[in-house]
Amino acid sequence: ESTGVTVLGLGAMGSALASALLDAGHATTVWNRTPARAADLAARGAAAPSDIAEAVTAHPLVIACLLDHASVHQSLDAVIGTMRGGTLVNLTTTTPNEARELAAWAAEHGVDYLDGAIMATPPMIGTTEASILYSGPREVFDGVRPVLDRWGTSTYDGADPGLASLFDLALLSGMYTMFAGFLHGAAMAGSAGMTATEFAARATPFLSAMTAGFAHDAAVVDGGDYTVPGQQSLDFSDLSHIVRASEEQGVAPGPVAAVQELISGQIAQGYGAEGFARIYESLRADAEVA
Ligand code: NDP
Repeated sequence: ESTGVTVLGLGAMGSALASALLDAGHATTVWNRTPARAADLAARGAAAPSDIAEAVTAHPLVIACLLDHASVHQSLDAVIGTMRGGTLVNLTTTTPNEARELAAWAAEHGVDYLDGAIMATPPMIGTTEASILYSGPREVFDGVRPVLDRWGTSTYDGADPGLASLFDLALLSGMYTMFAGFLHGAAMAGSAGMTATEFAARATPFLSAMTAGFAHDAAVVDGGDYTVPGQQSLDFSDLSHIVRASEEQGVAPGPVAAVQELISGQIAQGYGAEGFARIYESLRADAEVA
C-alpha cells in the first residue's frame, strides 16, 4: 500500500504536487488557506479538511508548498506540536538560512525535516523533466524518496538543510544574469531597428554554444591558477568598448557595465595578464575587497 501524504498549499505548484500524488494512487490530504482552491483535488478523491490541524495529523508525511518562509510559520506554528515523530518536507522557496531556521524549529518539535527546491514549472511535475533538489538528513530523504520520485528527478545535495536552496538559487542567479544580458543585447540591436525576436534567433545558437566555456572557466577556478595558458586575458577582455557602444546607441549599459566593473577591479589589482575566470576572485565568499 502506498504512503499517505498531506500537501499544504494549493497554489499553482502545490496543486501540481498533490495532483501527481493522486495520479500515483497515494491517499492524499490537502489543505489551503483559501479552502475553495481544494475543490478540484477533492473531486478527484483527496481529503480536504478546512482545519490545518486535521490535515497535518492525517498522515505522518506532510509536504509544504506555500509562498515563502513567513507563510510556513504562519501556517504551521500553531500545529507543529502535533506533528512529533512525523516528517515535514518543505518545498517552499526560502533562502539557505531560512531553510536552516525551519530545520532547527522542526527539530525542536521532534519533526524530521527535509528541505527541497523545485527546479521546474507546475506542468513539468510528474515527469522526469522536473528536477527537485533536497537537503537534510540522508535517512529522511531515503525514507520518503518513493514519494518524492513521483514528482520528477530527485537529487540529494547533502545534510545541511540550506544546500538545496543554495544550489537552486545559485543556478537561478546564473540564469537571470544571462537573461538580463540577452535583453541588454536585444536593446542594443533594437536601437537600430532589429526586433527582439530577430535578435533571439541569433542569440540562441550563439549563447548556447558559449555555455561550453563554463567547463573551461571551472577547470581554471578549481585549479586555482589563473595564469594557465590558453585563456583570454583580463586585459583582452576589457569591455569598455561594449559599454561605450551601448551608451552611444542610447542604451543603458547595466548588465555589461557590471561585468566590466568586475574586470576593471581585477585589472586594478594587477591581474590584467591573467585569465577572465579571475573575476571569480572578486565574487567568491571571503573575497578580498578591491
Ligand atoms: P502561488 O502564488 O500559486 O500560491 C501560493 C500559495 O501560498 C497559495 O496556496 C497561498 O494560499 C499560499 N499562501 C500565501 N501566503 C500564505 C500565508 N501567509 N499562509 C498560508 N498560505 C499562504 O505560488 P506557487 O504555487 O507557484 O509557489 C509555491 C512555492 O513554490 C513558492 O515558494 C514558489 O517559489 C515555489 N516554486 C514555484 C514555481 C512555479 O513555477 N510556480 C517554481 C519553483 C518553485 P491562498 O490560496 O490562500 O492565497
